[in-house]
Amino acid sequence: MYNVFAEIKERVSMQEAARFYGLQTDRRGMACCPFHNEKTPSLKVYDDHFYCFGCGATGDCTGFVAKLFGISQYGRQKVLM
Ligand SMILES: [Zn+2]
Repeated sequence: MYNVFAEIKERVSMQEAARFYGLQTDRRGMACCPFHNEKTPSLKVYDDHFYCFGCGATGDCTGFVAKLFGISQYGRQKVLM
């Protein structure tokens, strides 16, 4: 079965995904978290995942996109249908 999340994971790094969706990371890889309101960056973007020190949001690049659009990875069948 075609798995769009696996495909994204193979092609896109966490940093690329973050940048693509408008996150401005500074030199340390910190960005303002899109999942809670903040003025100082507390979301750290790693090579393959992210973690927010403010609200505890975490995941890989597909989890990031899923969270951003309010869809669960576990509900992807419904989403894709
Ligand atoms: Zn946060």
